[in-house]
Amino acid sequence: MDGKALAEKVRAQVAREVESLGSVGIATLLVGDDPASHLYIGMKHRAAEQAGMRAFDHRLPAETSQDEVLALVAELNADESVDGILVQLPLPPHLDEATVVRSVAPVKDVDGLHPLNAGALFLGRPTLVPATPLGCMALLLDYGVPLEGRRAVVIGRSDIVGKPVGQLLMQANATVTMCHSRTQDLERHTLDADVLVAAAGSAGLVAADMVKVGAAVVDVGQNPTDAGLVGDVDPGASERAHWITPVPGGVGPMTIAMLLQNTVRAARYRRGQLEFPALGLQGC
Ligand code: NAP
Repeated sequence: MDGKALAEKVRAQVAREVESLGSVGIATLLVGDDPASHLYIGMKHRAAEQAGMRAFDHRLPAETSQDEVLALVAELNADESVDGILVQLPLPPHLDEATVVRSVAPVKDVDGLHPLNAGALFLGRPTLVPATPLGCMALLLDYGVPLEGRRAVVIGRSDIVGKPVGQLLMQANATVTMCHSRTQDLERHTLDADVLVAAAGSAGLVAADMVKVGAAVVDVGQNPTDAGLVGDVDPGASERAHWITPVPGGVGPMTIAMLLQNTVRAARYRRGQLEFPALGLQGC
């Protein structure tokens, strides 16, 4: 499953929508010196600008206080030219990630991590959903992978990938098993998977012979090694899988494309072109 090609299509569609909306703005907030985070933010900005968006790049020193971060988020929440806000994680350890994530206005939360958006997804009313899970689902949909009634296995239960992709698969009527670091006999589960989503961050965790013949495999893992970036699944699994995403060139490009799509969605919510379903929950 070619994520690069599908991401280009999504990005072209986003660019058309940005043009018809007139102006769409995304603001990113990065605290500290993590080189990988600087790289990701740079990629997101280039993609946003190529799609015709206004991209506001806020980079703060590692020692920035929690109050300063919250003050900047409040400013961005109130800024009419900003439709989407993305706080790059992880934050330095002296900052409370949950508090910062909760401070982003839900309607601008293009990472889908605010409890209101996460709760709406849990309740089966997806609004702003994390980009990587959306990218996984878009690939499965685009390649016509059957989901209804099929067995889906997700490895990983993070808030940003594992849990939301599990919810989306269940909402697509797959029967979902969630695996994690305490799962015993992982292979027993993976061998049963018609659809396998690997999001553990562990190079080669899934050996080729752990994949069911004919399965669809979505490899979310991005593990830097001496041999370059590798996924969680041994690429030899392509001999057994019917569909498989490469690393790089699979889920990675889709994540950026879906982030841009989320920003357009946020812009439509703010302009009243789409109803923000979670708004009625505010104050709960
Ligand atoms: P995370 O927060 O570290 O979560 C990893 C999850 O995998 C945890 O739930 C953990 O279980 C589970 N896990 C770890 N080792 C395992 C093992 N040996 N067997 C079974 N489960 C195991 O990571 P994340 O943010 O979800 O990211 C996961 C991977 O996806 C990373 O490689 C990351 O770089 C990549 N990623 C890629 C993209 C992209 O755009 N392609 C986007 C986001 C993330 P416990 O809960 O029990 O600890």
